[in-house]
Amino acid sequence: MMARKHDIIVLGSGIAGLRAAIEAARNPEADVAIISKVQLMRSHSVCAEGGTAAVMQPEGGDSFELHAWDTVRGADFLCDQDVVMRFVEEAPKEILLLEHWGIPWSRCSDGRIAQRQFGGHSYNRAVFAADKTGFFEMQALYDTLQKYANVTRYDECYVSSILTEGNSFRGVTVWDLTSGEFFLIQGKALIIATGGACRMFGFTTYSLTATGDGLAMAYRTGLPVKDLEFVQFHPTGLVPSGILITEAARGEGGYLLNNKDERFMEKYVPAKMEVAPRDIVSRSEITEIEEGRGFPGPDGLDYLHIDLRHLGADKINERLPMIREVAMKFNFIDPIYEPIPIRPSAHYFMGGIHIDIDGATPIEGIWAAGEAACGSLHGANRLGANSTAECLVWGKITGDKAAKYISKQKAFPPAAKEARLKDEEARVFTRFSPSGKESAYSLRKELQKTMDSQVGVFRTGSSLEAALNKIKELKQRLPDIRVNDRGRVYNTDLLSGLEVDNLLDLAEVIVAGGLARTESRGAHSRRDSPKRDDVNWLKHTLAYYTPTGPRLDYIPVTITMWQPVERKY
Ligand SMILES: Cc1cc2nc3c(=O)[nH]c(=O)nc-3n(C[C@H](O)[C@H](O)[C@H](O)COP(=O)(O)OP(=O)(O)OC[C@H]3O[C@@H](n4cnc5c(N)ncnc54)[C@H](O)[C@@H]3O)c2cc1C
Repeated sequence: MMARKHDIIVLGSGIAGLRAAIEAARNPEADVAIISKVQLMRSHSVCAEGGTAAVMQPEGGDSFELHAWDTVRGADFLCDQDVVMRFVEEAPKEILLLEHWGIPWSRCSDGRIAQRQFGGHSYNRAVFAADKTGFFEMQALYDTLQKYANVTRYDECYVSSILTEGNSFRGVTVWDLTSGEFFLIQGKALIIATGGACRMFGFTTYSLTATGDGLAMAYRTGLPVKDLEFVQFHPTGLVPSGILITEAARGEGGYLLNNKDERFMEKYVPAKMEVAPRDIVSRSEITEIEEGRGFPGPDGLDYLHIDLRHLGADKINERLPMIREVAMKFNFIDPIYEPIPIRPSAHYFMGGIHIDIDGATPIEGIWAAGEAACGSLHGANRLGANSTAECLVWGKITGDKAAKYISKQKAFPPAAKEARLKDEEARVFTRFSPSGKESAYSLRKELQKTMDSQVGVFRTGSSLEAALNKIKELKQRLPDIRVNDRGRVYNTDLLSGLEVDNLLDLAEVIVAGGLARTESRGAHSRRDSPKRDDVNWLKHTLAYYTPTGPRLDYIPVTITMWQPVERKY
């Protein structure tokens, strides 16, 4: 099998991957590869809308301590506080760096970088570029990456496995979707930046491509995945598509209304109203719907309204142009004149590959960054605008660490054995046959239905058990997936089969972790254990792969500044 070699392999070209690749490439000795299963600029990060959180106005009263406290309280105390402090200190530097790299941040009338309100932040802290923040961040990073001749791009290349030997990294196996080639890339260092996996839910804000491949590969390679039971539901997914109506719509002053035209958040969090943290707003919405104050929607997607009309046409056009465009194109609604139908939509993975404060995984030579990683910044509930900031901060940290690491590794480690590569090639191309009885698309749909109905905003022991049984059944049916197309060029049937395999492994971890965690904390809300239980559950879940399902273990939370107290707003 043909093999290629690069010192540092960056797997993923979203905000985290691009930032990591730039930092790695600043070491002129480093030969860097960046791989993406889609064209680089089509990575899911281009969808990020509302903003990136950072302390930019200390003179106005914001501070690192305040940003850190908001994050810790928002996380329901499950975050590691040393990680949070490092994050808040590094984030403003990244905002200024992007400014130097050409991003058109929205400005105040006096020319300073503008900042807007986001849920759970007690200061207007989200820096933004209208409501297309992710697109402009990706563009600025992409332009900057062009300056480095030591970077090789592998666009539309699907990585199928991470190869390790003992406790060290060896390389990745790659299926080039455009040519059909299957090859090995040997490397000294790997940065996994493959994003989250909310496509296991049917009603979701995610891109179709966000199927958690890197997370699943890492898990199968033996890396522990952490706190996966904490999945964020964003309060304003457009009904029926699930497309995000950014939190900035509420940050700019939008109202949430029930079918009685009441701003119902008054009953739940009067001090924060619509800009309470996402877990709380999502629970309030589902309560309103369950108690009959929603509007009937298609396929059980009953909904509430977000009303922007009082903001006026000028503000909507200047600050939320994409939201207007999305509402008009997908729902034929103009938010200047009509409210928008919304309900909670699966949006973000707080959990991910277990990393330390420097982004290092337990396997030597492998780092992880962005949504695929879990450095325990977001704990049980992420605050809006903290994710893109995290991608930038740990993109930089991991790129830098990997660049320093490879400087000391003069030789490449030995390549993986040919037989192992042949096995992997067979696993990818011949495991599904044309005589199979199952459809990858139907299996994914069944999984999504199960996750939507049993593992949503509210959960119970019995809903999680039902979900686990269904996931196990789907896993048994998986090998019988039918793939008629025997070609290797853009075989999307085969790709769907591989992706659903990844989603099923991760869904099993989410449900097993949630079943074990008999408490309610942040986004994990169990009706049969409605209280937070710090005595038994102030700890992180680690899940290790075994062929029969995840083995769970636990590690302590790092508390440096704030002891857990009741989470009140
Ligand atoms: C609609 C929406 C709006 C959001 N808005 C905001 C916001 O305003 N502020 C904020 O802070 N956060 C926001 N978020 C969250 C934030 O956008 C994401 O968490 C973040 O962009 C994730 O970036 P990433 O670099 O980790 O991964 P991604 O951007 O998901 O990139 C993953 C990369 O990995 C590659 N990849 C995956 N699997 C494979 C494979 N098998 N082989 C090869 N390549 C692979 C993909 O091609 C892609 O390049 C939003 C999320 C959504 C869904």
